[in-house]
Amino acid sequence: MTDPEAALAAMTPLAAIRERIAHTAAIARRKAESVTLVAVAKMHPVESILPLIAEGQRVFGENRVQEADAKWPALQEANPDLQLHLVGQLQSNKAEEAVRRFDCIHSLDRLSLLTALARAMDKTGRRVPLFVQINIGDEAQKGGCAVADLPALLTEARAADLPVMGLMCVPPAGIEAAPFFALLAKLADDHGLASRSMGMSDDFETAVMLGATHIRVGSALFGARG
Ligand SMILES: *Cc1c(COP(=O)(O)O)cnc(C)c1O
Repeated sequence: MTDPEAALAAMTPLAAIRERIAHTAAIARRKAESVTLVAVAKMHPVESILPLIAEGQRVFGENRVQEADAKWPALQEANPDLQLHLVGQLQSNKAEEAVRRFDCIHSLDRLSLLTALARAMDKTGRRVPLFVQINIGDEAQKGGCAVADLPALLTEARAADLPVMGLMCVPPAGIEAAPFFALLAKLADDHGLASRSMGMSDDFETAVMLGATHIRVGSALFGARG
């Protein structure tokens, strides 16, 4: 008899998350490889990142350009196959820095940023895949494009030939996330976008069930942020 809980507890945090993704993907009749685990390392030092790289994790996330510039140049040089994703709000005046530093940006949410990113990609010659972040719970204080503004933003993105691969959301705190994940998946379907960045430490299994292609997991991998 193996007790699944005890088996998970004996693993490293990364191995346990991988196991939970595989288990959930199997239930959802999806391939585990169709889910990209983005290890969100914000507020955690390089020493905490190194063991995950040693365990084979290759996709990491940060939420601030400045913090990424401080932590990642040496790691990226030593591990050229790492991918760094920006999962936080981006100011237009940091667009060029972000395009140089990151391999994917999850937070395109407005026209002014779209214009800045298009200019930065032209200037640097780098084409960085983008997610449009949706304010999925229509929350006043939250970043993200309003659902109603998505069609116009996508039209502009296509006109500028930006590589938009999907939609991203952070659902409202404290209530069941599943309806918001389902809504994000439907919006992505409606607009012919293949990727969905949704699900964090507390709800990534729900997100995988509902079609997440990218889950962004921080505290479950690194522990609580200081
Ligand atoms: C911090 C952060 C995460 C990771 O959150 P955890 O709850 O620690 O897993 C995911 N997405 C975004 C946008 C974040 O800022």
